Amino acid sequence: MSETIFSKIIKREIPADIVYEDDDLLAFRDINPLAPVHVLVIPKVEIATVNDIQPEQAELIGKMVLAAQHIAKQEGIDEDGYRVAINCNQHGCQEVFHLHLHLMGGKQLRNLAGH
Ligand code: AMP
Repeated sequence: MSETIFSKIIKREIPADIVYEDDDLLAFRDINPLAPVHVLVIPKVEIATVNDIQPEQAELIGKMVLAAQHIAKQEGIDEDGYRVAINCNQHGCQEVFHLHLHLMGGKQLRNLAGH
């Protein structure tokens, strides 16, 4: 897998507004936020897409969801609610090929039908 901009953020080669970090994960604010809270949770290991997740990485993926839960509480949006989403490849509108979970909230989001 070729290096992405998120690898550079992990290595601190480019700046990011980091809101959470542990041994396995990094989370930072999306540079082009679609909601008042828009955070990306990424694994430090390079995984390109959902298609590339291996069974032995199931715990890591679970940790990504738990990190989103933690950050939602930290950001004060847990009670009102939020969305977690992972885009995959072209039809999913994935632009950065380093697995990332979007955590979005802080306003009423549109439903998946766009209403
Ligand atoms: P996706 O379309 O799911 O691949 O989402 C990629 C996301 O990365 C988009 O929401 C971008 O706004 C965001 N993004 C791209 N470059 C950066 C960056 N340097 N720092 C923070 N977010 C970024």
